[in-house]
Amino acid sequence: MDTRKIAVVTGASSGIGAASAKALAAAGFDVVLGARRTERLSEVAAECGGTALPLDVTDEASVAAFVFEIGRCDLLVNNAGGAFGLDTSAEADLDAWQRMYDVNVLGTARITKALLPLLVASGDGQVVTIGSIAARVPYQGGAGYNAAKHAEAAITRVLRIELLGQPVRVCEIDPGMVETEFSLVRFEGDRAKADAVYAGMTPLTAEDVAETVAWVATRPPHVNIDQITVMPRDQIGPGIVHRSAD
Ligand code: NAP
Repeated sequence: MDTRKIAVVTGASSGIGAASAKALAAAGFDVVLGARRTERLSEVAAECGGTALPLDVTDEASVAAFVFEIGRCDLLVNNAGGAFGLDTSAEADLDAWQRMYDVNVLGTARITKALLPLLVASGDGQVVTIGSIAARVPYQGGAGYNAAKHAEAAITRVLRIELLGQPVRVCEIDPGMVETEFSLVRFEGDRAKADAVYAGMTPLTAEDVAETVAWVATRPPHVNIDQITVMPRDQIGPGIVHRSAD
């Protein structure tokens, strides 16, 4: 009988999710990767010997079809998410705020709810949610994303309370600046704006965060790492960044 643990990673077609899928495969997990861009997802899956399945966490039917394919789940990495825009409250694009809420909050809630029975049945389940320091500290232009990440953190922390006494651990990993496609998505493909975010400083890489995910996932069953913030040395909070002159 195959006793390798199954890890499900949402948003595994790029960035932190793709790197986490690879790090978890290297740590001995069989990995199931979900995202909307299936071609890219398949490439990442091929690199780590995982299984690619289409997934839109904002769509109930998509989540149901995804979960239907999964017979066992030991670890769920809630990574799918992101920011859209950097509006002030006065000029808020509420459609963008809705989309941030849909993917970061309800998406995380939807896939977690769907996989929870399997996580409990595994006898040693784990949920790791990639939040953000935006879940902890407000920043200029962050209101929509701050609100979504605060809400995602709330459901993650409540889940930890709800699962006390059950064999499922819950961890929130809150990264600072990580150079992925995050800023490109936030600024609707504007490469110059995205690059400016990381100008003159050294951000985290997706692999840095993935290493943290793999470390959390490989602690002994009685150890619950509740919350971790991880930032570049050049950053001490949202918008508080050291940049070199050149
Ligand atoms: P990224 O490179 O843009 O990756 C985002 C991933 O989420 C992609 O794989 C995307 O895949 C997936 N995704 C988006 N909407 C989805 C949906 N509806 N259903 C399923 N998958 C979806 O950005 P990243 O930095 O790796 O972001 C990963 C997580 O880290 C996010 O939750 C983000 O909020 C958080 N985070 C990022 C940073 C940072 O500075 N980069 C800092 C703190 C926290 P598809 O488009 O193919 O679906």
